[in-house]
Formats: sequence, C-alpha cells, structure tokens
Amino acid sequence: MTRKPIFAANWKMNKGPLETEDFADNFLSKIQQQTFPADIVIAPPFVSLAKAAEKFGNVSAVALAAQNCSEHNSGAYTGEVSAMMLKEFYLHYVILGHSERRAIYGETDEVINAKMLKARESNLRPIFCIGETLEEREGGKLEEVLRRQVTVGMKDLTERDLLDTVIAYEPVWAIGTGVTASAKQAQEAHAFVRSLVAEQFGADSAAKIRIQYGGSVKPANAEELMACPDIDGALIGGAALEPQSFLDIIVNGTK
Ligand code: PEP
Repeated sequence: MTRKPIFAANWKMNKGPLETEDFADNFLSKIQQQTFPADIVIAPPFVSLAKAAEKFGNVSAVALAAQNCSEHNSGAYTGEVSAMMLKEFYLHYVILGHSERRAIYGETDEVINAKMLKARESNLRPIFCIGETLEEREGGKLEEVLRRQVTVGMKDLTERDLLDTVIAYEPVWAIGTGVTASAKQAQEAHAFVRSLVAEQFGADSAAKIRIQYGGSVKPANAEELMACPDIDGALIGGAALEPQSFLDIIVNGTK
C-alpha cells in the first residue's frame, strides 16, 4: 500500500499576518514550480489564515490548516472559532488534539472527539494528534494511552471520514525538546497505532490512513524517520518556522 506522505508545519502561536507574508513569499520563491511527492500543509494562527489564504490560495502544492476548532457550531463561546467558520477560508485541514491543547487547555479525549465530528461535518480533514508523556512511557502505559486516545478520539468516524483523517503520533517528550524518538521507537508506535485503527475500522482503512510522526523533526533526522514503513510524513513545529528548514525536511523526507 503506497500512502502519499504529508508534511505539516504547525506554527503554534507564531507569525502574525506580516510574518506570514514574509514566510509565504520566501517559501514560494524556493518551491517555484516544483512538484513534490508529498502533501504540504501549513497551519498558521487564526489571525494569519486570511493572509495565508491570499498567498497560497492558488498554489496547488500547499494546503492550509487551522490549529484548532470549537466543538460547537456557533453561539456564546467567547474566543472560539467553529469548523463552519474555518471552512470559509481556503482551508483543508484542522489540527486537533495537539498535546499542548490537551495539557495546557485541558482538552479531553471526549472533547477532541466532538471537535473531530464537527470538523468532518464541515468537510475539514483532521490532523488528529496523539502521544504519550515520558512518565506514561516509562510507566509502561504507552499502549494503554494510545488505545484510549484512538478509541475515544476517533469514535463515530465513518469509513469516509477515515480516508480524510491524518493521525499524528507525537510523543509529548519529543515535542519542542530537541529529543526525537528513535526511528525504532517511532516505527513501533506507528505500527501499534495502525493496528488500533485496524481493530476499530478494519484492515483496509488501517492500510490507507496516513500516520505522521511529530516531535523535534529536523532536516537531519527526516530521512531516517520517513524511511520507516508506517511513518507517512511529519508534523513539524520549531523546524518549520523557517522556510528553508521546512523545505529541507520535505526534500530529505521524500528521498
Ligand atoms: C508540534 O508542535 O507538533 C511539534 C512536533 O513541535 P516540534 O517539531 O517543535 O517538536
């Protein structure tokens, strides 16, 4: 089964519209007319989505993502943005369940599941993040945690939803720390996540779903990680803030 790799830049709370414009001009000048054997996604903060849409709207090589959406459609939810609203931008994906949303903003698996379903109602493709803390891994809870996150977070998705969902396995201890999971650790976790999808949705969906690795991916480690059979691209934070570094990850990761 060949799965097209997907490289997504999670800018987190970095780059307002001005810096988004700079990044876009620089990145676009580097990629020119090139085509890549991969999907490329950029997830700016909400306030920069309009500028990103203006810059990348006609660029077929690059798709845009939001970093979150509400589990509600509209109403008295100050500070929130719904999937329906996001769909009005040139936007294909939405990152959901990022470990920072879970740890800092207390998002539970149930809330993340509600967001997944709202995203699908609006035809957005979830980049669904899962992953264990160091304490959980060292305490022998890796499989239990991943099983809970997948089972609850992906509850009630249809087979069609599955085709449009990307899973990002991101060990929390590797995010923003400079410590990357070894290729062996990452491959083992990815194979386990794929087996969970097979249990819940069947072998066919499991063979098709793309599972990205995230956690301190850099140009120097992209090739080794992406060579693993169950790793289908990367979700990148720090190293995707700079156009050349993001591009080098894509190039090295698709060698
Ligand atoms: C992330 O934010 O999803 C991430 C993987 O960050 P970093 O690449 O900086 O570890």
